[in-house]
Amino acid sequence: MRLDQILFSQGFGTRRLCAGLIGHGEVKVAGEVVDEPWAEFDTAGLQFEVAGQTWPFFDKALVLLNKPAGYECSQKPKHHPSVLSLLPAPLRERGVQPIGRLDEDTTGLLLLTDDGTLIHKLTSPKHHVPKVYEARCKHPLTAEMVERLKTGVELREAEGKPGSEITHAEGAEIVDETLLRLTLIEGKYHQVKRMVAAVGNRVEALHRPQFGALTLPADLKPGEWRWVSSPAEVWGS
Ligand code: URA
Repeated sequence: MRLDQILFSQGFGTRRLCAGLIGHGEVKVAGEVVDEPWAEFDTAGLQFEVAGQTWPFFDKALVLLNKPAGYECSQKPKHHPSVLSLLPAPLRERGVQPIGRLDEDTTGLLLLTDDGTLIHKLTSPKHHVPKVYEARCKHPLTAEMVERLKTGVELREAEGKPGSEITHAEGAEIVDETLLRLTLIEGKYHQVKRMVAAVGNRVEALHRPQFGALTLPADLKPGEWRWVSSPAEVWGS
């Protein structure tokens, strides 16, 4: 593929801007400046540098973000900045979107991609992708609460979501007196908070350490992101 097309496909702006970056000697491949926009490269495993920063070539982008509290997953946030503001411009330009949503006050592992098919697969309950949550609760947890969460609870009508619904956790365990670990395969609106409320408790802080087979890397600070090299890392196969 031509170098200007490569940069364009990876979110570096219009073809003209990409050709300009290349012409100005801002782009390196294999450590060498390439100043001809028409230079051809094999994209498999390609890495290139733009203004001193290294970028891997990905047909579709998939990244993992350690979401801090105080950010909304919406593209048009109402009260807080969007999680997209934590990503570099080329990723935003490519149109990456969160795979499912975390509430503004929820922290932890959030995946983002520009692959619409992958978003559909990873959010559909049909594909049984487990999401693990740690909920710090207001009141001590009981074995009865955990049993009810696993067998099924009725979620009360949520704002803008008329009608009640029954749902259950794939897994629920008490970690300490007020810390609950829940595994869900669905992604209903405020699901953990509403499930915990349905058993007479209240979530005071919510964190997601795991999505599918991916766990939040211990060295990834809140607000930091990294590439996921393939969706297979999420499926665990
Ligand atoms: N369930 C919730 O209640 N909030 C989240 O952010 C995610 C799951």
